[in-house]
Amino acid sequence: MTEEVHELFQAGGTEQLPDNPALIGGVCKECGYVFFPMQTYGCEKCGSTELSPKTLTGRGTLIASAFVHMPVGTPRDTPFLVGSIQTEDGAILRSVLEAPDDAMLIPGMSMITKLVPETRPNHGPQDLRFIPVED
Ligand SMILES: [Zn+2]
Repeated sequence: MTEEVHELFQAGGTEQLPDNPALIGGVCKECGYVFFPMQTYGCEKCGSTELSPKTLTGRGTLIASAFVHMPVGTPRDTPFLVGSIQTEDGAILRSVLEAPDDAMLIPGMSMITKLVPETRPNHGPQDLRFIPVED
């Protein structure tokens, strides 16, 4: 059995948020649990393998953020910001964030997706960021 590779995001948005890239997550048909990224191993909540892809709106709430000074794995220019975000669909994910140097990132604030040119080799032309939005 080969592992399925799933795209993480799409340039087009959702009906609710058409101008911001959508995330490609999944939903459990058994219990309704929403997750990101899409996987086929089983529901983290109930164990069901009845999982189907779900396009998640590119808007969410910041849970926490931190600067990374010494990344493990793929090199990036440091430091960079990462954050945990809960999407409006209920999935919790980690993403690289993009914010002005003087921006105050406060848990609970709204974040939306944005595509940026990919700087890492072999990762496709674009990468996804979450950026803070004024409510
Ligand atoms: Zn489930």
